[in-house]
Amino acid sequence: MLVKSILNRVEKQPGFVYDSVRLVESAGRLSVEIQLRARKGTRPRCSRCGRPGPAYDTLSPRRFEFVPLWAIAVFFLYALRRVECARCGVRVERVPWAQGKHQLTTTYAWFLARWAKRLSWSTVATIFETSWTHVFLSVRMAVAWGREHQDLTGITALGIDEIQWKRGQRYLTLVYQLDAGRRRLLWIGQDRTVETLQGFFRWFGARRSARLRFICSDMWKPYLQVVAERAGLALHILDRFHIMAHMNKAIDHVRAQEARALRARGQAPILTKTRWLLLRRPEHLTGPQVPRLAELLGYNLRAVRAYLLREEFQFFWGYVHPTWAGRFLDQWCRQTMRSQLEPMKKVARMLRRHRPLLLNWFRAKGAISGGAVEGFNNKAKLTMRKAFGFRTYRAIEIALYHTLGNLPEPEAAHRFN
Ligand SMILES: [Zn+2]
Repeated sequence: MLVKSILNRVEKQPGFVYDSVRLVESAGRLSVEIQLRARKGTRPRCSRCGRPGPAYDTLSPRRFEFVPLWAIAVFFLYALRRVECARCGVRVERVPWAQGKHQLTTTYAWFLARWAKRLSWSTVATIFETSWTHVFLSVRMAVAWGREHQDLTGITALGIDEIQWKRGQRYLTLVYQLDAGRRRLLWIGQDRTVETLQGFFRWFGARRSARLRFICSDMWKPYLQVVAERAGLALHILDRFHIMAHMNKAIDHVRAQEARALRARGQAPILTKTRWLLLRRPEHLTGPQVPRLAELLGYNLRAVRAYLLREEFQFFWGYVHPTWAGRFLDQWCRQTMRSQLEPMKKVARMLRRHRPLLLNWFRAKGAISGGAVEGFNNKAKLTMRKAFGFRTYRAIEIALYHTLGNLPEPEAAHRFN
């Protein structure tokens, strides 16, 4: 009786009434079965067009899983009628608690999807004694609903990022909204080609693209090309995170080469296990790493010289005016070109080639936070690493939209979690 009162309070089903409630024990597991029936005098509605029509026949009762109560599974029991629809022919009726052929009630699917934002999909399946597939379908439903109802007005700043997947064999292109009050993942595409990013702009539309004011991305040529073509009015910025990532790659390259050369000459292994010492910013080092770095910097090593060039480049980001930043950049590039460190020289040449876009960073000062793209990049990698038990593109796409898309949810009378 009480269960029915609660359900009538939090989960009314228009056109239907909750009937009997039973506690059932089967194979040592308890479940609650709640019988539903159509309200007297109401006609079934066609599941395709939603119009009411005369009942044609009644199918055998089906179970729809609802939110569990005290770790006891809860099911709605209902025998679906078929409607003789004037438009669509004989169709199964529409019911408010579930969509199509789903075994889960919509409320339960939202419940699982919300947990799947906080926990891995397999953990959610284990906790609620349901299958991975049910969790996947729930998240898919939530993402589909959210993407259909999301508000795309007022977007002025975008960040474009690429992420490796399938053990680095393949790339994904991720496009974020980076406006101060609203940061979220907007779009994902496979690969990082011209065609990939064209796909984003097709989806986003010409009218919205014309309102973009800032776009930041890596120096990746296809991105530069498509942004210039599709959003020429926006200020294109090369973001700090990607530039420093190129520099770190160069340092790592120099270090690995040098370590090999030292080993070949039988010299002391001073460079072993120094990778993270050199790649991390010095202020992020902890405990015993600090004196180790200090010791390492005392050697006249190529890797150390590359490291010092990067640390010097950090001053670049502190400039306020593009003119002064430009002078610093030119000076740094000259110095680096004399360094005889080929990977670092490669970075310097790349920076020279993209000088105007680099200096746009200072023209957009304050409009885009330097850490935003990096923050998203880390979260996206974490989402993918959590290995929700999938390897397909479709599942990764859904997981990323779910965790980073900040998607809306329907208004409900009651939130179960
Ligand atoms: Zn119909």
